[in-house]
Amino acid sequence: MKLNSILWFFIITVVLSVGFPPDSALANNKEKSYRIDYNFDFLPEDKRVLVTIRLSKNAGVLKSLRFNIKPEYHSQFEGDGKIKRQANYITWYPPQKGGRLTYQVKIDRQRNSGGYGAYFAKDWVIFRGDHVVPSVKVMTRGKAESQARLRFNMPAGWVGETIYESADKINFVIDDPHRRFDRPLGWMIVGDIGIRKEQIKNTLVAVAGPKEQGIRRMDALALLNWNLPELLAVFPNYYKKILIVSADSPMWRGGLSGPGSLYMHKDRPMIGEDGTSTLIHELIHTAMRINGGEQDDWIVEGFAEFYSLELMRRSGTIPQQRYELTLSKLYKRGADIKKLRGKNSKGATTARAVLFMKELDDNIRAMTHNKASLDDVAKKLALKRGQVSLKLLRSYVKEVAGAPLDILSKNNPLLSD
Ligand SMILES: [Zn+2]
Repeated sequence: MKLNSILWFFIITVVLSVGFPPDSALANNKEKSYRIDYNFDFLPEDKRVLVTIRLSKNAGVLKSLRFNIKPEYHSQFEGDGKIKRQANYITWYPPQKGGRLTYQVKIDRQRNSGGYGAYFAKDWVIFRGDHVVPSVKVMTRGKAESQARLRFNMPAGWVGETIYESADKINFVIDDPHRRFDRPLGWMIVGDIGIRKEQIKNTLVAVAGPKEQGIRRMDALALLNWNLPELLAVFPNYYKKILIVSADSPMWRGGLSGPGSLYMHKDRPMIGEDGTSTLIHELIHTAMRINGGEQDDWIVEGFAEFYSLELMRRSGTIPQQRYELTLSKLYKRGADIKKLRGKNSKGATTARAVLFMKELDDNIRAMTHNKASLDDVAKKLALKRGQVSLKLLRSYVKEVAGAPLDILSKNNPLLSD
């Protein structure tokens, strides 16, 4: 392997796993671009999708593509060139002039709690694009980037919606400036569905779900009309288009975020009786795109829940008294929590984490005479994306506040391992 290709393998691997190369790396010179066409054929009889990936135009620049597959979902790989099969990987060595790779994907994914995280119903399908085309490591001969298109082949009368631009609800343009090898990401929905869209500031919001399930598309758009401008004030680099999908059971009875998109069960209230909102909470996850690894999920969930409340307060969706009432309820809920750190932050821990974030915000404001706030920390975390930690939170807070804060010190028992 030449040094050049080793280097590019390394860079592309980093780009694909982190998703965020420095902008200068993308702006460098004119690069060759190759064409990728993704075709999803929906097969209702089998509750499966037949995927075709076709490479053309400068395809010779691609040496190999190693897909990170799950054999229980991805099967029957066939294609031009050479295919190497390993337990959890499929490596495709396409011919120099390009070619096709095909495989089948089982859509239904049942969660431990019983509901489905992806489902192929009689007249609709809800799934994640990044489950259908799994993550991939790409080896190239020199610099190159992709021009990608996605096409849905569906039964008559069906349409589709994704996070990507489309003129006809069948063909989509995939263009992620942060990735060299574009692949379809985020929640997707196809079928006999109803879609409502609205431009809110710089972001086009689409809300989609199966017809005649009583999905509250207008309620969701109203809530976003109030709160998205506040979200954009904290996270100005937010998506130009987002998709909210909703459906009835057997889809899971909760909310789940993905790149530029989220799913929410149709029975979830827009705002719960306790004053919190699943929809805005998941929206914060889409804006921050962070994960807490083994120890610090409380940071991820604490920010999501704190900001869902905070944005609703700022937008006037809930008045100050309601906001304070909700905080006091969360205070009671999290009163017995002695430690925040751990792999999965759930109800009481997240409730305690919200109060922690509130205190952190108050301390930063006091320290800087209101010149800075937790917003500045949230912004930094969202720009970093990916895995975050207590250590990183400490360093960002120190930068923003100008000095370390006691609340984040090693002496705070809430932060012990
Ligand atoms: Zn969450």
